[in-house]
Amino acid sequence: MTDRNDDLFAAARSVIPGGVNSPVRAYGSVGGTPRFLAQASGATVTDAAGTTYVDLVASWGPALLGHAHPEVVAAVQEAAVRGLSFGAPTEGEVELAELIAGRVQAGGLRPVERVRLVSTGTEATMTAIRLARGVTGRDLLVKFAGHYHGHSDGLLAAAGSGVATLALPGSAGVPAPIAAQTLVVPYNDPDALAEVFAEYGDRIAAIIVEASAANMGVVAPRPGFNALLAETAHAHGALLIFDEVLTGFRVHSAGFWGLQVEAGESYLPDIITFGKVVGGGMPLAALGGRAEVMDMLAPVGPVYQAGTLSGNPLSVAAGLATLRLATPEVYTRVNAAAARVSTALDRALTHAGVVHAVPHAGNLFGVAFAPDAPHDYAAALAQESARYAPFFHSMREQGIALPPSVFEAWFLTAAHGDPELEKIEAALPAAARAAAAA
Ligand code: PMP
Repeated sequence: MTDRNDDLFAAARSVIPGGVNSPVRAYGSVGGTPRFLAQASGATVTDAAGTTYVDLVASWGPALLGHAHPEVVAAVQEAAVRGLSFGAPTEGEVELAELIAGRVQAGGLRPVERVRLVSTGTEATMTAIRLARGVTGRDLLVKFAGHYHGHSDGLLAAAGSGVATLALPGSAGVPAPIAAQTLVVPYNDPDALAEVFAEYGDRIAAIIVEASAANMGVVAPRPGFNALLAETAHAHGALLIFDEVLTGFRVHSAGFWGLQVEAGESYLPDIITFGKVVGGGMPLAALGGRAEVMDMLAPVGPVYQAGTLSGNPLSVAAGLATLRLATPEVYTRVNAAAARVSTALDRALTHAGVVHAVPHAGNLFGVAFAPDAPHDYAAALAQESARYAPFFHSMREQGIALPPSVFEAWFLTAAHGDPELEKIEAALPAAARAAAAA
């Protein structure tokens, strides 16, 4: 039986490549027809056939407060009436930059003195890398296998065969000489890091790292690993670009960095990138760092970066409203909801006899069909990922929307209350049995 989602997917595929505007939406790894969403409110999303699901995707992270929070929507509506885009500076941009800089503080450290607003996480990381190259006068970039920083050329680079090898393109259309500017290193591996710096140290402009990996499933940094990155980069005259596009303002009001510093780690990234929550569901991202580094950007410095829609007034209004509403109580609520769902997930899979781990990084978690939480990309890939499709579809049939890939985090929001959490808990045992049968 087909429904409105199937009809729309057929129509979409004839006019949009693969029927989607971002590949993971196509359900490639779980199979079936993607749900075309018509509406989202609080903890739920409703598809084009009129079916409502408890949502654990949260637009891949932005909806910290829940979908379409009335005060965020009102702020965007009010901004829209005043004008959709100016291409000129606005008061709201100043307020948002001040808010970001003010929030990212912990342990007496304050890594963000200046902020530049852009429209997507991809732009933020791309700009951060150009900035690091401009500051250091060097070309090479160290990134970690399995980490995602957006789709710019050098960041899609895939690991070569050895530890300290120049990377391969990772996507058609990426020139090999550009990919070769990226060195891909296994995550959480101090020896591999030391090896790459021993060989290329004086040519490396920056290390880029997800604050905690969450795009190969959730893979937390080992204790001290992020501090080691800062120390290693700085010892070689390179910068540390800390990608908090996914984690920033979600795991803690000062980001994953803030969470770690409060827990006793001490390190200072040079550039931090933000996205998702900072735009409250609108296209907005940012990079921040100390003044001396950030002032290398045009128009003050020689590193060029620009954007017609940068600091768009509607996006800024959504970001401001979201961050102002993201109080300590919101984090307490999201943390508690995440703990409750992850506990129920673990229990259901244990009960069904499925080999699994529930990896955590702050309030981020996911599932891994492996005996231990993976600590790097090779381990993440080695899991029994075929168990995820039946698990996902069972949850969907029971009215729960999970991310359509085992390599994505599950996102809770402050709008997930008892009824939604109970519905998730009630659905997990049957989904776990479906995973067991795979
Ligand atoms: N960095 C990280 C850590 C991300 O998770 C993402 C997107 N999921 C990006 C960068 C790219 O952001 P965008 O999709 O907004 O370009």
